[in-house]
Amino acid sequence: MRGPLPVKRALQEVLAEHRAAIRDGAAVPATDALIAQARQRVARTDAARLRVVFNLSGTVIHTNLGRALLAEEAIEAVGAAMRSFTALEYDVDSGGRGDRDNIVEDLLRELTGAEAATIVNNNAAAVLLSLKALASRKEAIISRGELIEIGGAFRMPDIMKAAGCKLVEVGTTNRTHALDYEQACGLKTGLIIKAHWSNYAITGYTATVDDATLAQIAHAHGVPYMVDLGAGALIDLTRYGLPKEPLPQQSLAAGADVVTFSGDKLLGGPQAGLIVGRRDAIARIKKDPLKRALRVSKLTIAALEATLRIYASGHRLDERLPTLALLARRPADVRLACERIATAIEKALAEAFIVTIEHCASQIGSGSMPVERLPSAALVIRPHRKASGRIIEQLQDRLRELPIPVIGRIGDGALWLDLRCLRPCDEAAFVANLNVLVTA
Ligand SMILES: *Cc1c(COP(=O)(O)O)cnc(C)c1O
Repeated sequence: MRGPLPVKRALQEVLAEHRAAIRDGAAVPATDALIAQARQRVARTDAARLRVVFNLSGTVIHTNLGRALLAEEAIEAVGAAMRSFTALEYDVDSGGRGDRDNIVEDLLRELTGAEAATIVNNNAAAVLLSLKALASRKEAIISRGELIEIGGAFRMPDIMKAAGCKLVEVGTTNRTHALDYEQACGLKTGLIIKAHWSNYAITGYTATVDDATLAQIAHAHGVPYMVDLGAGALIDLTRYGLPKEPLPQQSLAAGADVVTFSGDKLLGGPQAGLIVGRRDAIARIKKDPLKRALRVSKLTIAALEATLRIYASGHRLDERLPTLALLARRPADVRLACERIATAIEKALAEAFIVTIEHCASQIGSGSMPVERLPSAALVIRPHRKASGRIIEQLQDRLRELPIPVIGRIGDGALWLDLRCLRPCDEAAFVANLNVLVTA
């Protein structure tokens, strides 16, 4: 347990650090500055461990920073579900037992054209559960180009092992043909799976097999065809000037039996794994004992339903879904934000740094569309003197030590603050936060 830092200890720490710095030739700080630093330190240790931060990293769907920002409707629904009893697994019409998946199943059927749907804790769980339920003790056929690793712990060969499937790799890293799958199919085949290249790209001399052909091959051998889409956009993102991303409804229309995707990537909802597909395949998945262990809470169901309702309404999506709003934000708009904030930053940093506004490129993040970049604008902070050692790293540390930590990115000897994810409604708080830097 780490309680609030006592004031005396905070002062002792600050004094000890300054004594060491003074021995190394630093100037003696003013008493006011010492007190402000100690105050900041106490406030910091008193704050919740799950810190709210400013994400100016340039990556919108940042896994280490909690991925999607949720819609107001979703936030309200979660609040209501926390405060009240809810008919989570209760059929209000009949008074009998209900199923938590049913709350979002109709919406997912409507949005993706699937016959049925089920929800688990995240997409990794969705892939694990689907593989286990459909193909355990059998062979799962996958292209050598799709043996993906997502964020360290999710590696397709390991997930297959955990699901009890025997991995059968076909084709080569850059080219896989229909015949490769055909020849691998046999009596032990449990399913054919395609995994979306989320966080890498294979370009040049390449060949992949489309969903329709893979579904046909699988069905000719009496086994299901499964697609792990990863990011899972539900709408055509090119409408908002974003790169094209495959949609679950397209894989389903092409004959896929099961499609899995994340709730908190491009969908912009809560962390969840969505499994949509044919009624019989989903029924097998729901019957697996592992489903109970991977099920989601009422909070997830509440947030997911509210998010899916926004999609179903088709109304002002890029205003109501904050993640989509950030992704679709125009570079000129980000530049205006830079212009509004620049003076406050300059003032906070005093003389030691030069602040400029420059073009930069944001990343979508979370493995979604790894090659594509979104043109954006950044406040770029450089030290006046070139050879100033670790001065930029030290500045980055100071920004992270603010009451609301500011997360930027170092590049070309400068600190880049990509303002794409600083929403206009957060600008005042951002400036107020910087004032602490001035007094420190
Ligand atoms: C992100 C991703 C996963 C893991 O999803 P989580 O929701 O992070 O568990 C699995 N497969 C692909 C292709 C992904 O992009």
